[in-house]
Amino acid sequence: MKQLFSRPAPGARVRLRATVAAVCAAVLLAPVAAQANPAEEKAAVDERVEELQAEHEGLSEELARVVAELEDAEAQLPDAEDAAAAAAEELEEAQRKDDELAARLTSAENAQDDIREEIDASEDRIEESERAVVEVGRRAYQNSGVTSDVAMLLEMTQSENGLDGLSRVDSAVRGQQRTLTQLNEQRSAGLNNQDRLDAAAQEVSDLRDEAAEVLLEKKAAESAAREAKEDLDALIAQKDGAAQTIEDNQASAADELRRQQEEQDRLADEVRRWEEEAERDGIPLPGDGELRNPAPGYPITSPFGWRTHPISGTRKLHTGTDFGIPCGNEVYSAGDGVVVSAGSAGGYGNRVVISHGKIRGQSISTTYNHNTRNVVRAGQTVSQGDVVALAGTTGSSTGCHLHFEVMQNGTYVDPMDWIS
Ligand SMILES: [Zn+2]
Repeated sequence: MKQLFSRPAPGARVRLRATVAAVCAAVLLAPVAAQANPAEEKAAVDERVEELQAEHEGLSEELARVVAELEDAEAQLPDAEDAAAAAAEELEEAQRKDDELAARLTSAENAQDDIREEIDASEDRIEESERAVVEVGRRAYQNSGVTSDVAMLLEMTQSENGLDGLSRVDSAVRGQQRTLTQLNEQRSAGLNNQDRLDAAAQEVSDLRDEAAEVLLEKKAAESAAREAKEDLDALIAQKDGAAQTIEDNQASAADELRRQQEEQDRLADEVRRWEEEAERDGIPLPGDGELRNPAPGYPITSPFGWRTHPISGTRKLHTGTDFGIPCGNEVYSAGDGVVVSAGSAGGYGNRVVISHGKIRGQSISTTYNHNTRNVVRAGQTVSQGDVVALAGTTGSSTGCHLHFEVMQNGTYVDPMDWIS
């Protein structure tokens, strides 16, 4: 299972992927889920299906695929969960930034409104002051009989008895002076307010630009979070669906395994009985030879041993060694002997059983299963290396192979202890 998902891909592709990953990481600056490429993922699942079928003879492709998909989903879940959590966190952060900017923008807009109101009020005051200046001038003119401030001053200096007029003018001038000073102050305050208004408008404009950017970020974060959640949900659905199918098939798979077990026991009894009868009847058996590989040059696709069935969940003994030999290729007798039986045996398909007599004090028989065709008959004497069958995939088998068994006193033992 583990080596399946860490299986090295061609070097060039690994380097390209690494480069792309580095670029993506640099651009996004965010945790990127180790999402498998769909084509690679499918290839990995296909390979696992074959592996499972080799490991569990007779396991249908459909069920093997369900198991492979369950394993695949389980293997991807932790990363998908991390990715969904990270995306949700990023969305929360984007939402927080968006809220904060909205608040800052509102407060900047309020400040701008306040300055505008202040400017309006101060413009009113300036108008008022201007009216007051005009009023002072008008009063001074009425009282002194002069037509302007300058004329009034001129008259004041030239007059010989203008003392009354002078003091009136003096008072009017001082009043006007105060009003003018006030007006100047108000005007410069007005200019200052205009600067503040410009700055506030600039801030509002900057904040709006920033808010637009943050909104884009938020939208991207939303869609990334949605996608990550969808990926996670799809994986969970895949896992749950596969688990359900396995559960639905559990009982029938367990029944099938029980039937196979009974068949193994029955065939082992048959061989034991045959050996006892042969001994009693004095059938000559070779004895004390050595066994040899019945499918030399072909790979072992599944060794002898106990394994847990992926559907039933029960333990089952794989009673022989499987060789990956193509259908129709010759299968050789492992040693000199007599053919105990050659026929069709249920889940074993076409099967040949050969007794080799006593080797190292043990009664040894070998069996050759799933053959396309048996080429020997019961009772026939064979020599080591004789062709006994053509390999196949009959019986409970999902691909061309030889299931080769060694029985020691009628009990299944590891063939490799005898032929290697
Ligand atoms: Zn097998």
